[in-house]
Amino acid sequence: MHRFLALSAIALTVALAGCATTKQPEPDKTIKTSSVIAPEGKKLTAKDEEDADVSRYEGWHHLAGRTLEVASLADLKLHDKEVVLSFDDGPIPGRTDKVLAILDKFGVKGAFMMVGQMAELHPELARKVAEDGNAIGSHTYRHADLAALGFDAAMKEVAKGQLAVTKATGEDVNFFRFPYLADNHKLRAAIATRDMVVMDVDIDSKDYFNTTPVAVTQRTMNLLRKRGRGIILMHDIHKRTATMLPTLLSKLEAEGYKVVTLKFRKSSAPVEMAAL
Ligand SMILES: [Zn+2]
Repeated sequence: MHRFLALSAIALTVALAGCATTKQPEPDKTIKTSSVIAPEGKKLTAKDEEDADVSRYEGWHHLAGRTLEVASLADLKLHDKEVVLSFDDGPIPGRTDKVLAILDKFGVKGAFMMVGQMAELHPELARKVAEDGNAIGSHTYRHADLAALGFDAAMKEVAKGQLAVTKATGEDVNFFRFPYLADNHKLRAAIATRDMVVMDVDIDSKDYFNTTPVAVTQRTMNLLRKRGRGIILMHDIHKRTATMLPTLLSKLEAEGYKVVTLKFRKSSAPVEMAAL
């Protein structure tokens, strides 16, 4: 296969994969179905494009909250009206950089769960995400469904992904999110021993659905109002995510929410292995 085709195939596979609370079929098997290809096919309106114009949001913002140091998932406790903005599946040029620009305008940081393969393909962008002060996480090397693999194969994927993102960003990778949120207790415990905090999801924006940016914003805000706080799942590989982000952040600010910045703190206590 030509290099261009190979890269396109990788990008397409990852773009189609997304991350859902419910398990999705293997990306390779879904490429032929129009319902899966559709998400990127929705045309953005002129109003959507206008909303995404970052320059409109210059100025003083009050959205930045505290920096929360976490050594384990148990430390990741949010107060009422606090959110974490997490972005999976990138980095990808033309999209991740837009997300970074919007976060910068609002003075907030996110947590980027990178696919190792994507970080390898776009190391400058991966490094920029880290240099901007965002929390860096891994999302396996090839967006594998770890629950469907044997334990050893799954941990190989985890290690390869962590190494690839570390190399690309030039930083330690201290957060992790399961593709398709497909986890199990043994894998979660083993990942914790690799100095990575497993990031769960409280609010799924479903930005990978074939829907408008307005619908994504409304769904996310409705879920958040019910819950009061939480880790929001988004994907920096989709055009609609950068398009809806300024509106989402404006709404969060208007309703008094704060965006928490995550930092990893290495635990001095040995990781409890008894639960394995
Ligand atoms: Zn994902």
